[in-house]
Amino acid sequence: MKLEDKVLRILENSRRIFVSGSDIARKLNVSRMAVSKAIMNLRKRGYVIESHPRLGYRYVEVDDLRLLDSYIRDINTKLNFKVLYFEEVSSTQDVAFSLINSGVSEGTIIIAERQTKGRGRLGRKWLSPMGGLWFTIILTPSISPNYVTLLSLMTGCAVALGIQDITNVRPELKWPNDVLINGRKVAGILVEMLAEADRLRYALVGVGINVNNEIPKEVSDSAISLQQVLGRGIPRIPLMRAILRRFDELYQRLVRGDVNSILKVWRSLSSTLGRRVIVYLGEKTIEGIALDVDEDGALIVKVNGEVRKVYSGDVVHLRFRK
Ligand code: ADP
Repeated sequence: MKLEDKVLRILENSRRIFVSGSDIARKLNVSRMAVSKAIMNLRKRGYVIESHPRLGYRYVEVDDLRLLDSYIRDINTKLNFKVLYFEEVSSTQDVAFSLINSGVSEGTIIIAERQTKGRGRLGRKWLSPMGGLWFTIILTPSISPNYVTLLSLMTGCAVALGIQDITNVRPELKWPNDVLINGRKVAGILVEMLAEADRLRYALVGVGINVNNEIPKEVSDSAISLQQVLGRGIPRIPLMRAILRRFDELYQRLVRGDVNSILKVWRSLSSTLGRRVIVYLGEKTIEGIALDVDEDGALIVKVNGEVRKVYSGDVVHLRFRK
């Protein structure tokens, strides 16, 4: 176990009570410097750890989304995140759309406790009961509209890595926009945009994560929550902090045009590549081996010896190649 995880365990075990840095150091037989470095790393991963000059450290499990805005002040991101909290909305994407005419700033996050009309791709429903994370990040990137698929892949990476930072469970990504654990959907991503000629004016990055919510019956075969995976609920604020940090880091690379490093991360998390897949393209379907993603985020599929690019569509994984 890494030192920081040992420190975390001590903090978790003394819930709500401060533990001094020297006590932790003594227990783990390491220096106080090592402890303070571990605390720093834990904070980077998203954990909320308070410190007091005399009392030491205290781990707080914050789940209350109304507090999110105040708990992301210290995450040091380039994007200037600002949270607008709602108890209930039709969909956070709709609220974001309605706000962009009033000149909202980049990094504004619309988050809601529940959505009554959450949306997926192609007019599908995204069920969003209490206890999950349902939010939209408003962006104004000066990138070409062609980057929209990449933005979607990139968001999947941020969500998967943020989940891993907090839970140590590594989700897999299914092209283009599903985040899976044990083959079931733990999160979904929907990127919508408003473009102007050849410039992207707004991108609305919608994310839905099953955290502590019940999984609706309609999707009980295909969906999973983090609570189900871990056997316990997890506080949503640390998870949001972790995801936003990851998002910011990857987004900076994207706007710099560093597409390769995004694709590298995506490939490392992908469960699609190397697999036999069926791709539903409207009326048509193709079946082949998913070889790679290209610099537009398109999926490259080998069909009967011929290489095809897929820009959108639904992918079904068939089985492992081997
Ligand atoms: P896809 O994953 O097929 O691209 P979308 O991103 O369009 O799907 O998401 C919509 C689909 O996700 C729905 O048709 C439904 O099957 C499924 N779904 C809806 N709500 C949830 C949820 N809370 N968790 C997991 N899957 C869901």
